[in-house]
Amino acid sequence: MSRPTVARTYDALLGGKDNFQPDRDAAVAVEEINPGSTQLCHENRAFLSRGVRHVAGLGIRQFIDLGSGLPTVENTHQVAQSVAPDTSVVYVDIDPIVLSHGRAILADTPGTSVVTADIRDVDSVMSAEETRRLIDPSQPVCLMLVSLLHCIPDEDGPFDVVRGYLDRLPAGSALVYSHLCASDVEAGRTFTRRVHELGMDWGRIRSPEECAQAFDSLEIVSPSTDGTAPRVLVDCDTWRNGDIEPRPRPTPPEK
Ligand code: SAM
Repeated sequence: MSRPTVARTYDALLGGKDNFQPDRDAAVAVEEINPGSTQLCHENRAFLSRGVRHVAGLGIRQFIDLGSGLPTVENTHQVAQSVAPDTSVVYVDIDPIVLSHGRAILADTPGTSVVTADIRDVDSVMSAEETRRLIDPSQPVCLMLVSLLHCIPDEDGPFDVVRGYLDRLPAGSALVYSHLCASDVEAGRTFTRRVHELGMDWGRIRSPEECAQAFDSLEIVSPSTDGTAPRVLVDCDTWRNGDIEPRPRPTPPEK
C-alpha cells in the first residue's frame, strides 16, 4: 500500500475508488509526464467495451481477459453477457487485489471467475482450474490483451507470450489488443524512464512496428463498419467499428 501498483494507478486515472494515496500521487505524476494520459485511459476502456461487443456479436462466447485490472464500469463480462448471457469470462491478473475485488462483483454472476497469475506463465493460466471449468478449448475464444503488454519487458518476450496463447486457441478465435505506442522512440524512452523513476514497472512504450507483432499471422478487423478503412494498427479511439459514442472527456486526477 506504500507503493503505487499498475492496477490501482490505472484505477485512479479512471476516477475509481480502489486506490491509495501513492497510487493517486502516481496518477497525477503520470498525467504531468504525459498530459492526456487520463483521457487515454478512458479511451482505452471505451475501446475495450467496443472490442468485446464486436467479438460477442461475431458469436464468440468465451473470453480470457489477461491483465484485466480492477473491476470498473463496463467490465468484460457485463458487455459480453449483455449480448449473450451464456458467455463465459475468465479474468486473469497478477495483482491479488483484483481477485478480492473481482470476487465481490462476480459473486452472483454465473460463467465468470478470476485467476491470480502471471500472464507470462501461459501453461499456468490455461491449465488453471477456473480456466478449465469455464473455457472449452475446442470452441473459439476471445483473448483480451488490453493495455497490458507494456508491463512486460522485452527480455521476457512479450510477443512470444502472445503467440503461446494464440497457438493454444482454435480457429475462429479473436484477439482484442491495445498497447502504449509512440512513433517518437526518444519520447517513448523518456516516458518509460520517468514511469520507472516513480517506482512502477510498466510504461514500456513500443513503436507501431513492435506493437503490431501481436497481430503476426492474424487478420486485422477494419476500424470502420463498412470495412473500407485500412486494416492496420490504429489509435484505440479511432477503432470505432460502427460505434459513434462521443469521446470520453474525463477530469485529470488532482493532488
Ligand atoms: N486490461 C484492463 C484495461 O485495459 O482496462 C486493465 C489494464 S491495467 C493498465 C494493466 C493490468 O495488467 C493491471 O491490472 C496489472 O496488475 C496487470 N498485469 C501487469 N503485469 C501482469 C502480468 N505479468 N500478469 C498478469 N497481469 C499483469
